Amino acid sequence: MADEVTLRPNGGWDPRILVCACGDLVDVFVVLTERYAVIVDTLINRATASALLAIAREHGGRRQLLAINTHADWDHAWGNHALAGAGAPEQVPIIASRRCAQRLRARETRAELAAKRAAEPGRFDDVLLTAPTLLFDETLAIVGGDLTLQLFATPGHTADHISVFIPQIGTLLAGDAAELPFPFAASAAALPQLRQSLERMQALDPAAALFCHAPVAAGPEVLKQNRAYFDTLEHHCRAALAAGAPARPPAGADLEALVGFPYALAVPIDMDADALAGFYRPGHQAAIRMMLEHLGGGQP
Ligand SMILES: [Zn+2]
Repeated sequence: MADEVTLRPNGGWDPRILVCACGDLVDVFVVLTERYAVIVDTLINRATASALLAIAREHGGRRQLLAINTHADWDHAWGNHALAGAGAPEQVPIIASRRCAQRLRARETRAELAAKRAAEPGRFDDVLLTAPTLLFDETLAIVGGDLTLQLFATPGHTADHISVFIPQIGTLLAGDAAELPFPFAASAAALPQLRQSLERMQALDPAAALFCHAPVAAGPEVLKQNRAYFDTLEHHCRAALAAGAPARPPAGADLEALVGFPYALAVPIDMDADALAGFYRPGHQAAIRMMLEHLGGGQP
C-alpha cells in the first residue's frame, strides 16, 4: 500500500523521537517527552493520520497527546480532521503558526483539495481541511519536562512554515525548510527567506537533524548542502544575468543551459539524480527561474 504508515527502526537518534514513514512520500515524527507525546505533522488523510495516532498512543502510554503542523501543505496537515473537529475520536490540540491556520482556511487550499480529489480518486475523499487550534506567530516552547520543543518560524518553503529544535538533545526537526537534494521556495520573493531560515537553523549548530524529505541518516550536513546549492545557484544566475540572460526567460527556455547549472550538478554526488528527476528536475528549473527573477527583478 503506497500510503502505509510505518515506524522506522531507530537509526541512532534519541529514542524519544519516533520517525514514522508514510510510504516514500514523507517522514513525520512523534516526540515522547515526560509530559507529552507530540505528533509532528498529521499526514495526508484520515487513514494515515489515524495510523500515526495509533503509533503515538501505543508508545505514548498515559502522556497527553499534542500535535504540531510544520506547515499547511497536503502531506503535512491534511490529516488534521482525524485529531480535531466533530469527526475526530478524541480532540488533540494542534499547534501551528497563525499563517498555517489561514492557509488551511484559504480558498486556494480548497481548490487544491478539489484538484487532488479529481486527480487521485479515493486518496483525499475524506479530507476535511481543519485548521490547527493553538496558534502562534514567531516562537513557542512546549515544556515537556525532560525535553523542550522550541518551535520557531522558518518561512520560505511556505510563508507559514515552522521548525522544531530540542535543545537538551541538540536535535532539529526541520520540516520542509531543508530537504535533499534541495528545498523548494514558494516564490522568487520567498527565496531570501528560505535561505535565511537555513542560516537560522544552521546557527543552532544541531548535533542531529531529521527532515520530512531526506534520508534519516543525512543529518545536519543537509543544512550546509542546501545552503551551498543556493549559493551555487546564485553564482550561476548572477553570471548569466551579467552576460545578458533575461531575468524572466520565456516559457520553454532551456534554463539549465541558460545559467550553466545542469540538474545533475544540483544533486549531491551520493544521491541518485536520475531516480529523483521526476520531482526535483522541475524543482531545480523553478529555482533557476526564481533566482533570476529575484536577482534581476529590477530590469525590464
Ligand atoms: Zn512536504
